Amino acid sequence: MDDAFSFPRNPYLLLTPGPLTTTATVKAAMLRDLCTWDEDYNRLVEEIRREVTALATADPGYTSVLLQGSGTFGVEAVVTTAVSEDGELLVVANGAYGRRIHEIARRGRIPCSLIDCGELAAPDPGRVAAELESRPGVTHVALVHCETTTGMLNPAAAIGRVVKEAGRVFILDAMSSLGGIPFDAAALGADFLVSSANKCIQGVPGFSLVVARRSELEKTRGRARSLSLDLYDQWETMERQGGKWRFTSPTHVVRAFRQALVELKAEGGVAARYARYRENHRLLVEGMEALGFRPLLPPSLRSPIITAFHRPEQERYEFSRFYRLLKEKGFVIYPGKVTELETFRIGHIGDVHPEDMRRLLAAVEESMFWV
Ligand SMILES: *Cc1c(COP(=O)(O)O)cnc(C)c1O
Repeated sequence: MDDAFSFPRNPYLLLTPGPLTTTATVKAAMLRDLCTWDEDYNRLVEEIRREVTALATADPGYTSVLLQGSGTFGVEAVVTTAVSEDGELLVVANGAYGRRIHEIARRGRIPCSLIDCGELAAPDPGRVAAELESRPGVTHVALVHCETTTGMLNPAAAIGRVVKEAGRVFILDAMSSLGGIPFDAAALGADFLVSSANKCIQGVPGFSLVVARRSELEKTRGRARSLSLDLYDQWETMERQGGKWRFTSPTHVVRAFRQALVELKAEGGVAARYARYRENHRLLVEGMEALGFRPLLPPSLRSPIITAFHRPEQERYEFSRFYRLLKEKGFVIYPGKVTELETFRIGHIGDVHPEDMRRLLAAVEESMFWV
């Protein structure tokens, strides 16, 4: 398919958690200029909003908003719009992205606290229940679904149940799971779910997606601490003016995203994409273990999104050299993000297929300069 286009192929595959490798057809969709006032464009936005909502849940009580910026802008918009002046946020974190939500609240001068589970353990729903029981002031709870720091898939359904039983609002950072792992936002109890264009839906970077329970979003009018990150205003404008963004929208990125949604459907939907990611993941882990690498997490905690590996024990190993050798062979991997241990990560999302994993493993074997 790549050869149908005159622009050059990427010199390497991105095995990263986003931006990630996109298809030539997704990139080609950007070769048109669109007017944000035009009805063709607004219709496109409305179609995307409907599809994103449907991708996240079958529950008719949900709606979606698109917001300029990367995924973090979406998380910040949700946190600083949803929590009211007398509200309080509890963040359940086991990695850098969870801690980032806490930092967002802190910067926004929103009362917040943190259950930090460390980076190698899954959060315990019982502990969250106990915390909510003893802290009646907490109004919102935030969790990361797939913690990209380690690749851990968190027990969102069990935590969501506890949060909803306690009558609190549940914010889920589903950045690296929406479109790649089957779930239903309503079944997880998520009132606000955040993702972005450049993760498992396989678009290019430029905007974030928020899927929200309409009844909760409607309560947030006037709460935002920021103009450009006012999620309610952004949603209200899109609703009232049928797909109109408040400020300049990333039109090319939006068009590429529509193509990415078409390709997700053509692949067979989320279930088929999940199967491909799982197969990528399985081949990678098996092959890397055969080469002597050790995954950071036990199998039960891993996700088919990204896998963290311990650094090889040999002293001569050095990430930057390993990275460079792999890049020369056509693969870009990702540095580690775990605080206490030296790791590196390999993503298996994006336009990446089992044959790419097999080629990668051969490249890894050839790049093990330390053995
Ligand atoms: C990618 C990601 C984000 C957002 O990061 P940006 O760099 O702002 O796009 C947030 N949370 C998780 C879990 C992620 O994987």
